[in-house]
Amino acid sequence: MAPPTHDPHCIFCKIARGELPSARVLETAEAVAFLDINPLNPGHTLLVPRAHHAHLGELPEELAAHAGSLLPRLCRAVKAATGAQGLNVLINNGRVAGQTIEHCHWHIIPRFANDPIHWPWPQGHYSGNELSQMRSRIESELESAIRASSEARS
Ligand code: 5GP
Ligand code: ZN
Repeated sequence: MAPPTHDPHCIFCKIARGELPSARVLETAEAVAFLDINPLNPGHTLLVPRAHHAHLGELPEELAAHAGSLLPRLCRAVKAATGAQGLNVLINNGRVAGQTIEHCHWHIIPRFANDPIHWPWPQGHYSGNELSQMRSRIESELESAIRASSEARS
């Protein structure tokens, strides 16, 4: 696993290191989960890797896998504790996507029928060959990333 990074100005680094208080519900050597201070619904929980990585795309795969492994049990606990009928589990990735704290984190948001959260987002559609062109573009980005990482290893 990559060595832990830390930003002394980052609120979530400070919370992870115990320099700022938080209502923690779970902690491991690599991640902490605590209640969001301004919940969308009561029980809104944040899962935060201890190491400072601003965005999901920069998170080492091992750390992403570890955080992902904690999500099912966090979901079960938040749902049972709040009586929620469902949950939204999401990441705001980048300022334009609503990220306000640039330390990658997952939101676990309890949901209730007729709660004030507006979902789903307005959805669009593809026309002509836009869908297959987009599929090819993403696929070739993934292939070049795999090639670059295997070249870096050899
Ligand atoms: P983002 O907008 O970056 O996806 O989410 C940041 C979340 O962190 C927000 O939901 C916000 O309420 C929460 N938050 C901001 N500052 C603090 C804090 O000091 N303590 C806790 N527990 N949550 C915080
Ligand atoms: Zn941080």
